Amino acid sequence: MTSFESFAELCKKIEEIGSSLEKTALLASFLSELDEAELAVVPSFVMGSPFPASSEQLLGVGPSTLYDALSRASGAPPSEINDILRRTGDVGAVAFEVVEKRKPATLSAFIEADGLSILEVYSRFADLARASGKRSQGVKMKHLRYLFGEARPLEARYIARLALDDMRIGVGEGLVRDAIAKAFGASPEEVERSYNFTSDLGLVAQRAKERRLSDLTIEIGRPIKVMLAQLGSGIPGSMAEIGTAAVEWKFDGSRVQIHKKGDEIEIFSRRLERVTRSLPEIVSFVKEGVRAEAAILDGEAVARGEDGRPLPFQEILKRFRRKYKVEGTAKKIPLELMLFDLVYLNGRVLIDEPLRERRRLLEEVADSEILASQTVTSDPEKVAEIYEEAIGAGHEGVMLKSPESPYAPGKRGKNWLKIKPVMETLDLVVIGARWGEGRRASFLGSYRLASPDPDTGRLEDVGWVATGITDEMLSELTDLFRDLILVSEGMEVELKPEVIFEVAFEEIQRSPNYSSGYALRFPRLVRVRDDKAVEEADTLERVTNLYATQRGRNGRSPG
Ligand code: AMP
Repeated sequence: MTSFESFAELCKKIEEIGSSLEKTALLASFLSELDEAELAVVPSFVMGSPFPASSEQLLGVGPSTLYDALSRASGAPPSEINDILRRTGDVGAVAFEVVEKRKPATLSAFIEADGLSILEVYSRFADLARASGKRSQGVKMKHLRYLFGEARPLEARYIARLALDDMRIGVGEGLVRDAIAKAFGASPEEVERSYNFTSDLGLVAQRAKERRLSDLTIEIGRPIKVMLAQLGSGIPGSMAEIGTAAVEWKFDGSRVQIHKKGDEIEIFSRRLERVTRSLPEIVSFVKEGVRAEAAILDGEAVARGEDGRPLPFQEILKRFRRKYKVEGTAKKIPLELMLFDLVYLNGRVLIDEPLRERRRLLEEVADSEILASQTVTSDPEKVAEIYEEAIGAGHEGVMLKSPESPYAPGKRGKNWLKIKPVMETLDLVVIGARWGEGRRASFLGSYRLASPDPDTGRLEDVGWVATGITDEMLSELTDLFRDLILVSEGMEVELKPEVIFEVAFEEIQRSPNYSSGYALRFPRLVRVRDDKAVEEADTLERVTNLYATQRGRNGRSPG
C-alpha cells in the first residue's frame, strides 16, 4: 500500500526540477513500484485530475468550498486563508501553511501510524464525486475535512491542488506516456497507441506492467481519441497535396463519438466526456437509423435554428452541459446528427481500413438523414463549389479527406485537411480577470490570457481581451468565473486556469510586457471553447510560428 505522502514527495521533486527528462525518470521509477490498483489512479493524479477524463465522475469542488473545508479542518480563520492566498496565489501553499500550523512536527510520529494512502485519498474523492442532491455540500465538506484533518502539510498541498484540478507540476499526457514506457520497458509509440485506443493512462500503465499492452484494443464503451484535422493551405494548395479528396462540409457543431451495442448507446464528447444523458435525440437517431449490432461512429451534432441554419456554438454547448431537465433545452435547441466515420462494426476494428471502405460500410448501416454528404473529387473547382454551399448554409467550410487514409485516433495529420475562411484565432487559457468600471462594475470585464509552454509546463501570458463581449455574455462569464477565483487583488483576480477562449486578433507583436514575449493586437473574443481542456490550448510554439508566418495572411479568403 503506497502512502500518499510518498506521492506528495514525488510531486514536490517533480515541481522543483525543470527538465522533462528528469521529471519522466522520477515518475517512471515511482510507477514501477506501484501495485495494480494504484497504477489505475496515479497517472490521473499526477496530471492533476482525481479521475480520468472519460470517467463519469466529477469532483465538483470549487475554490470556495475548498477554502471553507481548509478553514474548518485547520481552525484557520477565512481572513488568514485569504492573506496566504493573496501572498502566494496558490491553493497548495494555503493548504500547506494552515495544516502545518495546526499540526506541529512533534505530532508527526503519532500520525505515522496510519497516514493516508494513495488509494484512500482516491476513494474519498470517489465518495465526494458520488455525493449529489440537497445534502451533497455537507457530504463533500465531511470528506474534505477528513482528508485535510489527516494530511501532513505536504500532502495537504497536493490534495488541495488535486481537488481543484490545478497541480502546477508541469506533468501532461506526453510525459506520463513516456514515464509508463520507461517504467515498464515498452516503446513510447506502443504506449501512445494503446492510449489513443483507450483514453485511459491508468489502464495503459496496468497493461504495460504486465507486458500485455498489445492486448489493448478498441472496445465498445471505452472512448477512443478522435482523429483530428490540420488546417489546409487554401483549396488549390490542399488539393495539390491530397490529390483526390473525399469532400464533406465542415459542420458548425460539436463532435460526438457514439458507441452502440444493441440498444445500448453511449455518446462521448470531443473531450471524451460521457454526454449520453444530455443528448436523447441523438440516442434515438442512432437506435432508429443505424442498422448494426455493435458500432463506434464518429460525427458532428449540429444545433438547428428555426431558419435551418446552425445555431452558434454556445447554444449547442448548452445542450452538452445540461444533465437534468434535458427536455426543455432539447425543445429549444434541437440537434441533428451528421455521421462521417465508422471506426468499429460488429466485432471488427476498422481503423486500418481506408476511408472509402469505412464510408461504404457506414452508408450500408446508417440512414441517409444522419449521414454527412460526401463527394469524391480531384477537381478544385468542385471543391470551391461545395465550400461556397457550406459557408452559404452557415457552416464553417469543408473537410478534405484522403479516401485511402486509415483512421488515426488522436492524430492531427495531413489526411484530413480543414478549409475555412482565414481568420487566425488562438485558443488561449483564461488565467485572470479585471472587474469592470461604471455600468460594468459588478462584472468581470477583461480577461487575461495565457498560452502553455509544454517544455516548462507553465502558462505564459499574452495579454488581455475585453472586446467581443456582449452585456449578456458579460454576466454569463462573470457567473462562470466567480467560482474559479483563486486570489483577489484590488480590481484584479487570479483565476483557476480552466476555461479556454478562442480569440481572434489582427496581429501578434513582440512585447516585453508579457511573460510569453508576445502580445495580441486588437484581440476579440470569438467564443468560449468549453469543449477544450487546458492541455489543448494553443501552445507558445504555435504563437511563435504564427508570429513568424503572419505577414499578409489575415483576412484573406482561403481560395
Ligand atoms: P477544429 O476543431 O477546427 O480543429 O476542426 C475539427 C473539428 O471539426 C472536428 O473535431 C469536428 O468536430 C468538426 N467537424 C465538422 N465537420 C466535420 C467533418 N465532416 N469531418 C470531420 N470533422 C468535422
